[in-house]
Amino acid sequence: MAEIRLNKKNYEHNLRVISKKASGRVILVLKSNAYGHGAKLLAKTASELGFKFCAVKNEQEAYELTQYMQEILILSHIFNGSEKDDFIYAVNSLDDLKTAKSGTKIHLKIDTLMHRNGIDLSEIDTALKIIKERNLQLLGAFTHFRSADEMNADYFVQKQNFMLVKARIKEQTDSKDELVFHSHASAAFERNLSGFDDEYVRVGMAQLGYAQFDKNLELKPVLSLWARRISARTLKATQGVGYGAKFIAQKDMAVATYDIGYGGGLLRYGGQGELLLANKKPMLGKMSMDSFSCEDVGEWVCVFDDARSWAKFFNTIEYEILVKLSPFIDRKWV
Ligand SMILES: *Cc1c(COP(=O)(O)O)cnc(C)c1O
Repeated sequence: MAEIRLNKKNYEHNLRVISKKASGRVILVLKSNAYGHGAKLLAKTASELGFKFCAVKNEQEAYELTQYMQEILILSHIFNGSEKDDFIYAVNSLDDLKTAKSGTKIHLKIDTLMHRNGIDLSEIDTALKIIKERNLQLLGAFTHFRSADEMNADYFVQKQNFMLVKARIKEQTDSKDELVFHSHASAAFERNLSGFDDEYVRVGMAQLGYAQFDKNLELKPVLSLWARRISARTLKATQGVGYGAKFIAQKDMAVATYDIGYGGGLLRYGGQGELLLANKKPMLGKMSMDSFSCEDVGEWVCVFDDARSWAKFFNTIEYEILVKLSPFIDRKWV
């Protein structure tokens, strides 16, 4: 069966590098099965290194990690009045505050420019009032940068907006020393050279080894995807392999078929252009649901060990290549 091998040394290295730059204040984003890596595996290893705060999408993901993490922030909860004491919930609108169960632990999401989720700057005072009235536990606040990966001024505008909100919240709150503020996801985290003002960072992709800006951080990809040989044969000159015979052998060659395809979460290669495997050899012919063919290189072939090459080929971002990997693929540390 195809397997995902997670490089423990690289993960530990990335965590150390991030923790150093963020002065130990780190929230690990482990949503969507840790971007396809395997949330439980990563949470266990991270917790052994002392990382105890993570963020996920919903309660279902949070329950998977309770045994490893002390604090779990749920980013996209749909409030229903039965929020659990074990988790911290991101508040994405004033309505959330009205629906939340009394006593719920919350972080306020602040809309500083992205206009996706969060409390508008003009709603802060109302929000604080409802929090008091409804006896919710305000533990922190955060925002998200809309274009941290583009070199423009948005980052600075949002930083300024968030600073004002932080001051306002501190003014209005008794437990201001314990409040946890956070804004920098991976791209912003890398970009930042001026420190984080005691904020936490909230990083997903950086922990997995994909630097976008700061090559000096030397982050190293953690995941490699391996496929196992199902069968091998000699493809004779003029014979084609796979659906539609999109690859035709020019001379006799040893080919093999390996056990993952788009059913395992790979984007589907339809035979156009050259899609290279980690060994720089091309996939041959169209990808099938559960397999693909390539030159026979033995029992295992590494599909990719750096998702950027596939992201480039498919004109997408490495996030999408990784997150689609099926949860049914075996995963292990190596
Ligand atoms: C996914 C997500 C992150 C992590 O983003 P990366 O670019 O992977 O670091 C941080 N914050 C929020 C709100 C997110 O949804």
